[in-house]
This record gives sequence, structure tokens and C-alpha cells, in this order.
Amino acid sequence: TSIQELIDLDKKHFIHPTTAIEQQQADGPSFIFKEGKGIYLTDVTGRTVIDGMASLWNVNIGHGQEEMAEVAKEQMAKLAFTSSFATFSNEPAIRLAAKIASIAPGDLNAVFFTSGGSESNDTAIKLARHYWLLKGQPNRQKIISRSKSYHGVAMGATSATGLKPFRDFTNSIAPDFYHVDGSSIEELRKVIEQEGPETIAAFIAEPIQGAGGVNLPPEGYFKEVREICDEYGILMVTDEVITGFGRTGTYFGIEHFGVVPDMMCFAKGVTSGYAQLGGVVLNDKMHQDFIALSKGTLLHGYTYSGHPMACAVALKNIEIIERENLIENSKQRGEELLAGFKKLQSKHPIVGDVRALGLIGGISIVKDKQTGEGFETQLAPRLVAEAAKNGLICRSVTFDQDTLVFAPPLIITKAEVERMIEILDETFTAVEKEIL
Ligand code: PLP
Repeated sequence: TSIQELIDLDKKHFIHPTTAIEQQQADGPSFIFKEGKGIYLTDVTGRTVIDGMASLWNVNIGHGQEEMAEVAKEQMAKLAFTSSFATFSNEPAIRLAAKIASIAPGDLNAVFFTSGGSESNDTAIKLARHYWLLKGQPNRQKIISRSKSYHGVAMGATSATGLKPFRDFTNSIAPDFYHVDGSSIEELRKVIEQEGPETIAAFIAEPIQGAGGVNLPPEGYFKEVREICDEYGILMVTDEVITGFGRTGTYFGIEHFGVVPDMMCFAKGVTSGYAQLGGVVLNDKMHQDFIALSKGTLLHGYTYSGHPMACAVALKNIEIIERENLIENSKQRGEELLAGFKKLQSKHPIVGDVRALGLIGGISIVKDKQTGEGFETQLAPRLVAEAAKNGLICRSVTFDQDTLVFAPPLIITKAEVERMIEILDETFTAVEKEIL
């Protein structure tokens, strides 16, 4: 097949997720990737670029790790799939659940598996509501989340997502979801009191917001969240879909803030994208209560919950993360990334606020550094296109802001971080020349 044929077939038959459909029809795919190695991706034309987003914040161990292919092949040949409904089980799922229990913070010790992040958040929402039914508090059904959050696109996850365009995509949304300002503890308390604490099932938040523009919480935020949840008897859920498995320089993002949630959702980095897997980890109390209070069947489960091949791949991924010290590398390279961002900030008039924690980072684009005022037409998409031309994939966030976000694979080296910063330097220089 020629490249032109692929482009034509793509436009005709492939509805891309999260895509500006008009642009996709006009331009076709910007890259048709065919292989990856380490932090690099190569497309069908032979162009190689740095994958500065670890694809979708998830390829933590980098591309082309052959051990992953071997373990997948071995498990597929032995037993690709079997059910884990009811009393059926399998060894990779058992071992992975135990491994996750051993690395998850505090007493988060029991795992419910899904196939991805959206399913994980829907699971946490449903388990929270079911929990309160069992506890004899059927009115506790409301879910509170934060206004710049992204929790995925299943119905519950969409409804919890704070970024409004995702909810406006359809003209109706599930009831019983409330959104609060992500940095205001006062607003959280106000909404709880207005609605009545006895009607609220859970509060859910990303330790560090990803799709909302890489936003770190204010000092002490999650400690206060934990206190408020305890005070009102509300379940605290963290969405670690991006921040899990070393992304922020600790195993899980919430570890930076010294508290333990009641449930923790994960996906992405659990397999580094080599297989589709996610899950929710429950604390001992919730797990014990489910065991003690359950009357019938736990009527929640996906065909692929506890998928043997996906679980075997996850175990190998975690082994590589630990063996290669990727969490420590994430911390150290993250410091270098942030130092690089700060250099760009001091040199370039359009670079406003910069932030990073481990290997997740954001750069705000501004027209005026003093006031933080932005450009009328957001520049980030143009910068993303220019960076790609210069050999770096990154992503723009433009909801109510103008931001570039980054999340390279955790295997990145010091020299490769420096190369990312060089490319960004060239990119800012080129775009500034055109517009200033
Ligand atoms: N939660 C967070 C924080 C995410 O960033 C994402 C995806 O980007 C999701 C949930 C949804 O995960 P998935 O796309 O695997 O359904």
C-alpha cells in the first residue's frame, strides 16, 4: 500500500478519537506511525520524532521493549484469555493484584480490574454508590469532582469530568454530579454543606491534573480534602490514571501529599500501553465491608477484568520500572526538565508559568508575562505543529487557556531532556519571529 492510499483509507474509514474531524478530513493524519524505540517514534515516511507525550501519558517504559513482546507471546500461547467472573481466577491476575497491593499507598490492598481509565473511574463511582447502599445510606449517591478534571469518556467518567466541553459533547449528562473549583477547599466545603453531606458518595480528583493543563494542587490541598472527607464520611477517590506508575517521580502521585485515599484508580502506566488494562484499588475497610455486608452478587464486571495476557504484561512492565529505577529517573530527569522550562521562561517573551513534577510538565503561553494575559487566538496548537516539524511531539491544552503539556517516557536520559529543551527553544524562537 502506498502512503497516499493509507491516507485516503484513514479519511474514509477511521473515525479518530478526540479529533477535530474537519481538520482530519482536510489534512489527513499528520503522522502514520509504524515503529517506536525508546523515546522515539518513526512514521511510514521514515521521519523520527521524540515522543514527548509518551504517546498518551502512558508509555512509561518507552517503545519497543522486546521483553514485553516475549511475555505477551508466552502468555497468549499458554492462555490468552479466560474469565475471572465469579469463582474463576488466573495466576497473572492474582499475582498482579498482590503486586499492586504491595506498591499502592497505605492500606489500599484489594484490586478490581478493568480495561482502561474510563472504566476504572466508572467502577469507582459505582462501587462508592453500591457501598453506601450496603451501609444503609441509599441517599449517598452524589459525586463531587473538580472543574478542570478529566476522568475519561464513559458515562460516569464523562459526568465526573470537569472540563465542560466533554460534557457538552452530548445534550444530556448523568444526574448527581457536581463540580468545584480545583484549588478552593472552601468551595468544596460549601457544596457539601449545601447539598447535604448525607447525600454525597465520593469526591474524586487527579493528584496532578493532566488533560486540564498539568495543574499542581495548592499547598496542603489534599490533606484538607482528606480531613473534609473524614469529617463528612465521604469516600475519597484519586484518579491516578496518568500519575500512577512513576510518572511524577513517586510510584503514585498522591504520595507527594502524604494522604491515602479510600479508592485509587489506575490504567495507562500499569502496562505502559503494551496492553489495555486498568483498575481500582480499594482500602481494607471498604473491602472488608463489601465482604461482610454483600447479600448477593457484586453485579459489576467487564469481560476483560483480570485479562491474563494484559496482567502478565503489566507484571513485566512493573518489573522493568523497578529494575531500571525508572521512578528515580523520573524524579531526576523531571528536575532537569523543569530547570530547562525555567531557562526557556527567562529567554522567551511568550513563556509564562512553567511547572513539572517528575516527568509531567506544562508551559503556559502568554502575551504579557506581568499580567498573565493570553493571546486572542491560542498559540499552543501552532507551537505543537512547529515542535513536531522540529522533531518533538507534545500536546496543546486550549480549553480556557493556552498551554503546552509534556510527559515523556520515564526512560528518557539527561541528554534527551536537553534535546527536548533545545527543540522547544528553536520552536519558540521561530513562532515569536512570526508574531512579535
Ligand atoms: N483519568 C485520567 C486522569 C486520564 O488522563 C484519562 C485519559 O487520559 C482517563 C481517566 C481515561 O482513561 P482511558 O482513556 O484509558 O479510558
